[in-house]
Amino acid sequence: MVENERLRQEMRRCEAELQELRAKPPGPCPGCEHSQESAQLRDKLSQLQLEMAESKGMLSELNLEVQQKTDRLAEVELRLKDCLAEKAQEEERLSRRLRDSHETIASLRAQSPPVKYVIKTVEVESPKTKQALSESQARNQHLQEQVAMQRQVLKEMEQQLQSSHQLTARLRAQIAMYESELERAHGQMLEEMQSLEEDKNRAIEEAFARAQVEMKAVHENLAGVRTNLLTLQPALRTLTNDYNGLKRQVRGFPLLLQEALRSVKAEIGQAIEEVNSNNQELLRKYRRELQLRKKCHNELVRLKGNIRVIARVRPVTKEDGEGPEATNAVTFDADDDSIIHLLHKGKPVSFELDKVFSPQASQQDVFQEVQALITSCIDGFNVCIFAYGQTGAGKTYTMEGTPENPGINQRALQLLFSEVQEKASDWEYTITVSAAEIYNEVLRDLLGKEPQEKLEIRLCPDGSGQLYVPGLTEFQVQSVDDINKVFEFGHTNRTTEFTNLNEHSSRSHALLIVTVRGVDCSTGLRTTGKLNLVDLAGSERVGKSGAEGSRLREAQHINKSLSALGDVIAALRSRQGHVPFRNSKLTYLLQDSLSGDSKTLMVVQVSPVEKNTSETLYSLKFAERVRSVELGPGLRRAELGSWSSQEHLEWEPACQMPQPSARAHSAPSSGTSSRPGSIRRKLQPSA
Ligand code: ADP
Ligand code: MG
Repeated sequence: MVENERLRQEMRRCEAELQELRAKPPGPCPGCEHSQESAQLRDKLSQLQLEMAESKGMLSELNLEVQQKTDRLAEVELRLKDCLAEKAQEEERLSRRLRDSHETIASLRAQSPPVKYVIKTVEVESPKTKQALSESQARNQHLQEQVAMQRQVLKEMEQQLQSSHQLTARLRAQIAMYESELERAHGQMLEEMQSLEEDKNRAIEEAFARAQVEMKAVHENLAGVRTNLLTLQPALRTLTNDYNGLKRQVRGFPLLLQEALRSVKAEIGQAIEEVNSNNQELLRKYRRELQLRKKCHNELVRLKGNIRVIARVRPVTKEDGEGPEATNAVTFDADDDSIIHLLHKGKPVSFELDKVFSPQASQQDVFQEVQALITSCIDGFNVCIFAYGQTGAGKTYTMEGTPENPGINQRALQLLFSEVQEKASDWEYTITVSAAEIYNEVLRDLLGKEPQEKLEIRLCPDGSGQLYVPGLTEFQVQSVDDINKVFEFGHTNRTTEFTNLNEHSSRSHALLIVTVRGVDCSTGLRTTGKLNLVDLAGSERVGKSGAEGSRLREAQHINKSLSALGDVIAALRSRQGHVPFRNSKLTYLLQDSLSGDSKTLMVVQVSPVEKNTSETLYSLKFAERVRSVELGPGLRRAELGSWSSQEHLEWEPACQMPQPSARAHSAPSSGTSSRPGSIRRKLQPSA
């Protein structure tokens, strides 16, 4: 028990120590095998404790049993003692009675002779004595009976005593048996207790050993942690120092930041002011440069002439056929790209134009030449670009082109879009397009819902003197997609209207009218520029080949309008007071785009093959006639703030109708312009 108590105390101490260790923060390796093992050990310990408790229970049970058995034994012993006392009493009583009986017998034996004497005396003496004798005999009988009875009782008593002896022996044997059993149980109990004690001791020893191992591991861990702590302490010190330093810095940071922000703000403000003043300066310079650019541009155009004429020779195609008729009759000057040589009926004729494009020239090359004109539209100038030439010479190719290789129309709009985009910060532009056709002197809207409807050209009722076409559809366009849709629409209108579009288009003038309206955001200055892109009807002289009926009528209309165009340009060139704009729908419609400081470009399309030389010659002569004309001093379609009515057309349409046929295809005026770039006939023309 003392040992137990000691072990218990040891265990308690261990447990307390364990608890203390558990309470400490987890070591550097939580979940290591030591802690796992300790958990296992703890489990085992608790199991063993449980077993011990069980054993204790069993022990107490056995103790109880022994107690009970001891109690019973004591009881039995008591009973035995009682029985023995009883037996002794009985024996004593019986022996007493036996003695009494013996005494009585002895006394009775000693009494008999007197009785016989009495009897004899009685017999002898009297009946009375006889009666006393019989009475004595009866008494004797009774006493004998009593003795027999007593003997019987004695016998019984002896039997009882014997059985009592037997019982005692049996009880003694039983007691001995009980005692041996008790002894055995006691021994067993002692053994069990011993084994339990041993078990307990073993378990305690094991637990102790394990706890010691665990403790050792924990101690080692602790030592590791301590060394770690020792090594970490300097680091912690430096960290703390750093932290404190940073804290100080952070405390000072808002002030620093505010200061930095203030200075940066001031710097930024200064920079912005500088940039602003720079910007103002730049804007001033830019405006000045813009003015200068316009001036230079105008000057350049003036020097080049407001009317420029270029020629484009298309390549020989399959349609030209084969043989001598399809041979090439056009050559170029290797050193001068403004000269074109034509071999007509064996005679070489040369023309000098502003530029000549050989068949190798691409759509882009041609467009490059007209680019400046198109951009001037943004500045508020009116521009006309005509494609002139006989059918099949490439007019439509140059103006419209093919989907893969678009011509001037699409490229011009694309350029306008990009230019407008570039100026978007200062100017607000809207670009609208209309498409019309003039066939047999009838103007039709190609984008309208009813293309059959004849359109009229009228003077603006606002008194501005400008012309307008009521009912002519205008589409606002913003992208190449928009343009393509518009072109597609116009094309569909034309195709559904005419069964033979090719033939029809060669006999009508197709106009694409692009209007660019701009507002200068800063000054409110408004500009309007109009770009007229005209694919003229074929210039071939059909009338001469003896055409009749509608064909003849078409030819006459074409001749009339083309010569009216020539007349108008000639009148403009020679600064005549009257310019016959009204002689054709085309010139009337384009009146304000041909007059003033408007710019005109004529692309004369040339077929290079032999069979077309006379038409080619005719076209080049027309070009020569047009090229030397100079447009009058500029009227720029720009107003400040709002549309004013200050503008007037320089030339009011005259009532007088000139003779178109008389002037049509007339030879160029004798007085060639003194300006550089005028047409000079290098060699004597044949016609
Ligand atoms: P027009 O409109 O003057 O009647 P087209 O533009 O229809 O003539 O041209 C007639 C043919 O010649 C078309 O098949 C066209 O593709 C082709 N063509 C015209 N010019 C060129 C060129 N510069 N390069 C290649 N093919 C051309
Ligand atoms: Mg054509």
